[in-house]
Amino acid sequence: MANIIDGKQISAAIRAEIKEETLAFEKENGIRPGLAVIIVGEDPASQVYVRNKRRACDEVGFYSEAYELPASTTQEELNALVDKLNADPAIHGILCQLPLPKHLDENEVILRIDPKKDVDAFHPANVGRIMIGDYSFLPCTPAGVMALLQRSGIDVTGKECVVVGRSNIVGKPQAMLLLHANGTVTICHSRTKNLAEVCRRADILIAAIGKADFFTADMVKEGAVVIDVGMNRRADGKLTGDVDFASVAPKASYITPVPGGVGPMTITMLMKNTLTAAKDSVR
Ligand code: NDP
Repeated sequence: MANIIDGKQISAAIRAEIKEETLAFEKENGIRPGLAVIIVGEDPASQVYVRNKRRACDEVGFYSEAYELPASTTQEELNALVDKLNADPAIHGILCQLPLPKHLDENEVILRIDPKKDVDAFHPANVGRIMIGDYSFLPCTPAGVMALLQRSGIDVTGKECVVVGRSNIVGKPQAMLLLHANGTVTICHSRTKNLAEVCRRADILIAAIGKADFFTADMVKEGAVVIDVGMNRRADGKLTGDVDFASVAPKASYITPVPGGVGPMTITMLMKNTLTAAKDSVR
């Protein structure tokens, strides 16, 4: 049976470190890291995320603001809010919860957020910096995965890493971070041929496709490290990953559960980015 990577425990340890660093930073500079979260519309899942982000801010000692805007908000109103927050010295990080209602342009918002306050690391300037390995912020979910590997003592160097999923927020940056950590990286997607065969080559398999229980034991090499980024709701409302945990866990050397694996790390990495942004503001 695999070692279970406990994302809750690792996340709690990192948050405790962030809290300590925040106190020391505030003492030295008189500045409290500040995060602004914008949510447009009444998507219940997004509302839960925003609540969790505010709670995390309280936990690590940040200042936070939440802007809950009605679904009828116009692009001009949203842009004006982003401009106001860009100019606000008490705010070091700005996060606009996606997806936005259809009539709003997500790209326009991503481009408008000051790259220095872009704690999601979605702005092309930050994406480019990640590509060349000279960055302040890493995208939260892939950074969380790297922290899980590192704190579980899993060395990526020279390993066959297979990332399944190529989205801009998970798959692509994940592959880049594994490459920076000296992994030999393959990226798979919906058009990949012989997916099971490619997955079986992996020493480290990252599942990020959004399909419940898709990865079964026959797709996993004996002793592989399996990281499940997927978050899927079953018909009964329960959260489940992309990996069929029951069949894969006996074969893997390490595995993340869902819930309690990658999920808790994402918000923790957001806190880390906000602290970094505050520190960068006084450099
Ligand atoms: P997207 O829907 O943006 O991307 C899914 C990717 O998976 C695409 O690249 C797609 O390929 C690929 N894919 C879909 N079906 C298959 C298949 N049958 N075989 C191979 N590849 C396939 O999703 P995200 O990247 O945003 O999210 C992925 C998962 O991670 C979701 O479950 C999401 O909820 C979860 N997630 C979890 C987070 C966390 O905090 N734990 C944070 C963010 C996301 P193609 O490009 O060819 O269409």
